[in-house]
Amino acid sequence: MLGQNVFFNFRFFVAAVSSTSILLFSQITLLHEFYLSVQYLFVVSTLYFSTYALTLFVNWKLNDERYLVILNSVRAEIRQEEAIERGEALLRLSSTDALTSLANRRAIDDQLRVFWQAWQTSQRSFAVVLIDVDFFKRYNDCYGHQKGDTCLVAVAKAMVKAVEGEHCVLGRFGGEEFILLVPATSRKNIAAIAESVRHSVEDLQIPHEQRPDQSHVVTVSIGAALSDDIPGSKFERLVTEADRALYNAKNGNRNCVRIFDRNDPNQLDVNENIADLLRTAESRNLVSLVYQPIRDRSGRVVAVEALMRLRTPSGKSISPAVFIPLAEQMGLIVQLGRWAIRTACRELLVGQLVPAVSVNVSALQLRSPGFPLSVAAILTEFGVAPQRLIIEVTEGLQIEGQPEIVQSIQELRLLGVRIWLDDFGTGFAGLSCVREVEFDAVKIDRSFLQASSTPKGAEMLRGIVDLVRGTGSQVLMEGVETQEQRDILLGLQVDLLQGFYLGRPAAAADMMPAIAHVANAAFLERSLSA
Ligand code: C2E
Ligand code: MG
Ligand code: MG
Repeated sequence: MLGQNVFFNFRFFVAAVSSTSILLFSQITLLHEFYLSVQYLFVVSTLYFSTYALTLFVNWKLNDERYLVILNSVRAEIRQEEAIERGEALLRLSSTDALTSLANRRAIDDQLRVFWQAWQTSQRSFAVVLIDVDFFKRYNDCYGHQKGDTCLVAVAKAMVKAVEGEHCVLGRFGGEEFILLVPATSRKNIAAIAESVRHSVEDLQIPHEQRPDQSHVVTVSIGAALSDDIPGSKFERLVTEADRALYNAKNGNRNCVRIFDRNDPNQLDVNENIADLLRTAESRNLVSLVYQPIRDRSGRVVAVEALMRLRTPSGKSISPAVFIPLAEQMGLIVQLGRWAIRTACRELLVGQLVPAVSVNVSALQLRSPGFPLSVAAILTEFGVAPQRLIIEVTEGLQIEGQPEIVQSIQELRLLGVRIWLDDFGTGFAGLSCVREVEFDAVKIDRSFLQASSTPKGAEMLRGIVDLVRGTGSQVLMEGVETQEQRDILLGLQVDLLQGFYLGRPAAAADMMPAIAHVANAAFLERSLSA
């Protein structure tokens, strides 16, 4: 009994049956031994019965514990499986565009690095193709955002079909912009793929009556650049050249494909012209600033963001997406950036027109020696309190491993200047940024808001707002274009809001009407009731 019930730890049923048999057998045997005294029989039987009861009890307890251990291990296994499933779903969610189910910007950045690595190490050529839906803002204004979303989904589906079997990676870069990574070896090759993409969208024949040109259907403009045409070791340059090609496509007839060609004299002309413009922009008054209001939850303007504008002598404006990277490449951004801070101080901060101005600064500026000192000199020159100047650094900076940038930011903070992180959520660097540096506010990239119309997108928006709030910084959401978006953000307790709905960028002289642009009363009403 002792052996099977305690030492071998048999199952309770087996132990009970066999122990009972042993007990019965022993009792019957004892009863047949007539020569034994009653006292002896009593003592031995008591010993048997107590051993029987005790060992069965111990066995039952052991079995009970074993059952609990098994139960716990099964529970742990289920929990682990659930965690793995949740992790996989989150990973899928964080790399997929909620609206179109294409790869999102984060996943595309990832892929871009893979393609670039393959090009650098094994000379496997590839192209970056940027695709932009023509006059999409007008489409949204005319047909509403829901139709706008449906249109983007249809365009995405058509493009997926057009590039089937080409081993391409197609993603949504944000808004109405898509990106295609193509393993291609020649410009001819890219042109064929890009043309089939362009055709696939045109063939959908989605009506677009509000276009200011001859066409009445939704079309796309495409700009591309091939890795073979890009000197240097930075893949950002490839995207910049594709962006510039796209800019040319949009500046031409739209609904067309333009491919960057480093030997094309016209291409060079465009770049050279902009480069020339940049060199003399400041002295010829071709560069200016516009300001976009940033409001708190009650609708009050707490700051304005200074955005740089460049125009040609004939008055044509050039997109910051084109001239800022070029100014960075040429190193001119340091001088232009200093001009921007001086101008913002002079135009807005000297008076009491706005509480604060935020100015975007590039990595090059932060890395240039004496940048915090030059900021201090400008503030002293205009007698402006440092707290009224905000420096916006973009997430793309890759602060990690760049001690001079971190140092520059710390010195600016010591000066009393506020530091905001811009475009949070667009790259890999965001989390390490908020870990290394303390930001007064973090501006979440507008792609999160644009995608928030679907349940998946809304979940991601909530997640990123919580994440930013967890860092202790104020949460700022950019790109607020509609009342619904503003209401969602107020519901999520976002601290600061910025976007076309709350005020478009305007020159300093037109600031007051721009600030008053939104029906403040309605905003106040909504936030008070929230
Ligand atoms: P950013 O700093 O993220 O600036 C916000 C951009 O979003 C601006 O574009 C603004 O016009 C646009 N925007 C504002 N509200 C909305 C909205 O509701 N919907 C949409 N779709 N867009 C909205 P912009 O002026 O073309 O500037 C583009 C980028 O160029 C800026 O992005 C910034 O990274 C860079 N940039 C602009 N000015 C400067 C500057 O002075 N220095 C540096 N280094 N970069 C600058
Ligand atoms: Mg900014
Ligand atoms: Mg931004």
